[in-house]
Amino acid sequence: MAKDISKIINPASIAVVGATNRKGSVGLAVFSNLIYGGYQGVLFPINPKARSIQGVKAYPRLVDVPDPVDLVVIVVPPEAAIDTLNQAGQIGARGAVVITAGFKEVGGAGVELERRLKEAANRANIPLVGPNCLGVINTDHDVSMNASFATKMPRPGNIAFISQSGALCTAVLDVAAGRNIGFSKFISFGNKADVTEIDLLRYLRDDPETEVILMYLEDISNGREFIEVAREIAWDAKKPMLAIKSGTSPEGAKAASSHTGSLAGSEAAYDAIFMQSGIQRVEGITELFHYAQAFGSQPVPKGNRIAIVTNAGGPGIMATDAAVRHGLKLAKFSEATLAKLKNDLPPTASIHNPVDVIGDATHERYEAAIRHVLQDENVDGAVIILTPQAMTDILETAHIVPTVVRGIDKPVLCSFMGIVDVSAGVNHLQQNGIPNYMFPEAAVRTLAAMARFGDKLKPQARWVKPVQADCSSAQMLINESLELEPVHLMHEHEANRILQCYGFPLLRSRLVTKPEELEAAAAFVGFPLVMKIVSPQIVHKSDAGGVKVGIKDLAEARVAFQQILDNARAYNPEAVIEGVYLAEMAKKGVEVILGAHRDPKMGPIVMFGLGGTLVEVLKDVSFRLAPMWESSAERMIQEIKAYKVLQGVRGNPPSDIEAIKDCILRLSQLLDENPQIAEMDINPLIVYPKGQGCAVADCRIILQHQ
Ligand code: ADP
Ligand code: MG
Repeated sequence: MAKDISKIINPASIAVVGATNRKGSVGLAVFSNLIYGGYQGVLFPINPKARSIQGVKAYPRLVDVPDPVDLVVIVVPPEAAIDTLNQAGQIGARGAVVITAGFKEVGGAGVELERRLKEAANRANIPLVGPNCLGVINTDHDVSMNASFATKMPRPGNIAFISQSGALCTAVLDVAAGRNIGFSKFISFGNKADVTEIDLLRYLRDDPETEVILMYLEDISNGREFIEVAREIAWDAKKPMLAIKSGTSPEGAKAASSHTGSLAGSEAAYDAIFMQSGIQRVEGITELFHYAQAFGSQPVPKGNRIAIVTNAGGPGIMATDAAVRHGLKLAKFSEATLAKLKNDLPPTASIHNPVDVIGDATHERYEAAIRHVLQDENVDGAVIILTPQAMTDILETAHIVPTVVRGIDKPVLCSFMGIVDVSAGVNHLQQNGIPNYMFPEAAVRTLAAMARFGDKLKPQARWVKPVQADCSSAQMLINESLELEPVHLMHEHEANRILQCYGFPLLRSRLVTKPEELEAAAAFVGFPLVMKIVSPQIVHKSDAGGVKVGIKDLAEARVAFQQILDNARAYNPEAVIEGVYLAEMAKKGVEVILGAHRDPKMGPIVMFGLGGTLVEVLKDVSFRLAPMWESSAERMIQEIKAYKVLQGVRGNPPSDIEAIKDCILRLSQLLDENPQIAEMDINPLIVYPKGQGCAVADCRIILQHQ
């Protein structure tokens, strides 16, 4: 259910429970920040002993406050915090921020305290941010609230930052202050006992002051809801999102009996989530700021063709290399642009991209070059490089950049290189909304990130159910299997019945339990055929000598039948043998693997990769969460390094990629509709040349009682 957190971010009155005059205390820091941050509402310090805090009349208990209180900020120890929430309920407060630490993060008794805290908040029907957080900041002039113990109130801006780590917040505020970066909202949400990143994103989606969203996450509360709200932010609200994700959860590392289980570490799940929801994942704070500055001040480019204008050859080449490396193209200028550049630049200048205005360039030369390249319709964005030579008029050049780009709907990023000589120029650029990077490489990489976001914003083929699947039959089969045991491994012959309900391309097959049945079964399946052992104890059939392919006639089948049984007994004398499975021998094709694995928080994760024994060594696989859009299935296929193999190499024809996509979407739907499927592998799916489809040649499903 969506929580209304508007009174946490935009309260008309705030009570600070635990406000004190004691130097060095969190209670004093929070209260002073509210006062000196210029909070526009009414403040009530709550302290049982003091008459006033910082000159403001204090009340002994929250219930003693005579006026309405929107937000309760809590800095008292855990037990008292729980009691405070009960009082907050009595006075009809609309939100709480619990800054106090000592809850879940300390383990042991803290876990129970946090459970009680959450319970108290829920009972009082009050949304709660925290505990164990730095607090909440809203720079909106009408609110001007610094309900945190950070040392700085950031300047107003269009960037929102939400963070699971409080300590990181203070560092981010400090860096931001040094770079003229402002924030709309700054929220540290700590242990997220109640309000999660998903609630915050919902708020920021609709927040008119926020145009870019930065987040630091250690985990995600619910993969599916996260994707849903993030998609609305990216595609509907068109707000770029950047995320730092740290910490790997242990679930991902656990050994599993399917390929997918062992390959789908949670990291892969997070990458999948970010990819599907239009979020740019960044490695660290430096990159976060690099991107945020540009996204916060420049339009998103419509394509990936860039122009470079430089007064130095070397840095121009570096920028060009970086552009190519990060997936950008160097724009090819039109004849008209070349003519204008030729006219306005000296004969020694290079008028082709990268445009070299030469070491002695003045701001006039820069101005002409920048104007001409930006007017060219083959250019989607530009990087301006300047190295400080003795004759370079740095400040004047910094002045012309914002003027020239005004009114042009294309991103322009600068790299005035160096620290000391260029500092006045850089300041001017930043104050006028032009991001500057110490080195061209960073500027180019940032522009590439913007181009990727622009590319994502293009209309997507949204998710559609691929077929009319027979979900109820599948559910019946699944429930039958789970009646006797809480976890059940379905082998190929059982698993195929589930796949059949979802319209996967299957091979003709039959299970044989007695030698007498062999002849009729073989006649039904037809030669050539394959034979496989069926035993609950033998998971990897070929390891046990339990697979025979290319059987041409009944005589061969009889021999194979006996061999398979002998091999199985030799492999594991305890194994219960249920029979031998006969299947049509599929023609040769490219073998791929499809898999899925259900993460407790993320939901079902679908995997795709090239089949064969190398899959686990090379880990050349891609992941997406189910349910997925058609475009996600497409990208999953294109993403693996071995995609070239599917496109056709060395005289081999291109594979039927549409058929793979169809199977991925069926698999996605299967996982979405049947929560008892914990893991599964289709390995191999044999894929034929374009237009000729594919066939499932092996499958296993692990069911788990819900
Ligand atoms: P397991 O994965 O348990 O070892 P499989 O059923 O996947 O056993 O069989 C091993 C290999 O045999 C497959 O990877 C595939 O190359 C081949 N194979 C299995 N079934 C067929 C079939 N019906 N048609 C063609 N080849 C098959
Ligand atoms: Mg297999």
